[in-house]
Amino acid sequence: MYRTRAALALAALLATALLPIPAAAADLNDDGGGTSAQDPTAQDPTAQHPASPDAAAQDSPTQDSPVQASPAPASTTLASSTLVLVNGAHPLEPLDFEPARLADAGSGHRMVPEAAEAMHRLLAAAADAGHFLRVESAYRSYAQQVALYDRYTRQYGAAYAARISARPGTSEHQTGWAADVGLASGECSLLACFGDTEAGRWVAAHAAEFGFIVRYPDGLEQVTGYRYEPWHLRFLGTEAAQEMAALGDATLEDYVERLGRRAEAAARPRYVVRPAPEHPPWYTATFPGWALGLPG
Ligand SMILES: [Zn+2]
Repeated sequence: MYRTRAALALAALLATALLPIPAAAADLNDDGGGTSAQDPTAQDPTAQHPASPDAAAQDSPTQDSPVQASPAPASTTLASSTLVLVNGAHPLEPLDFEPARLADAGSGHRMVPEAAEAMHRLLAAAADAGHFLRVESAYRSYAQQVALYDRYTRQYGAAYAARISARPGTSEHQTGWAADVGLASGECSLLACFGDTEAGRWVAAHAAEFGFIVRYPDGLEQVTGYRYEPWHLRFLGTEAAQEMAALGDATLEDYVERLGRRAEAAARPRYVVRPAPEHPPWYTATFPGWALGLPG
């Protein structure tokens, strides 16, 4: 009797151990990023994590902001997505993309409403900490970028213009997700020395709390294509910005690569051991215990 039961159990295990299950049921996080990792294919990253204090604040009906939960899907290629990657190698699609909505982000400069609202909160928090900042530039249309790029090219030549400004259609400013901030005094405006000011250091340390990153860090021109720009902030949403900081991804290029690996892992089938089902009598006859070398 023992022999039969053992044979049954082992045979059933062998027969059912390798049944694939849908990837959605498996753990999709391949990189040890912790429980805050998000599925890049999700429609609304804030909706997935309603427990996050910031998401709760954004969704609060008592807040007098016109911005509700983000409708933008977390795609890295869709220009209207908070996670879109735009650089010299990844132009906007279409090249003359325009955001559907824009709102004042400060000093008359506009951003996508979600980012504009976050910028107002960042500026207010900076002021509370004694740092008086202003928005120096934010949304720029394709036509404005053409004019700016032409001007820099005439002033400095094509090679230098390409290092300090984006070719039309490759600027984050055109997405409405980016802004340049500076001291209200005008000191170190759009200069690397902004990063050494108290306010610049505060921005670098606190940007992620408001969903921003310093998009072009010092010494990573090879990755981003841009020299150090401590003033250029890019809105990703708090979840992505804070995850980048937590995981040590210095650039959006690194983070987007990580999201790609994560999506790839999610698409792979996973295998699990399922409980052994009941077997009909013929099964025992076909796979007797002695054939498997089990003890009698
Ligand atoms: Zn900028």
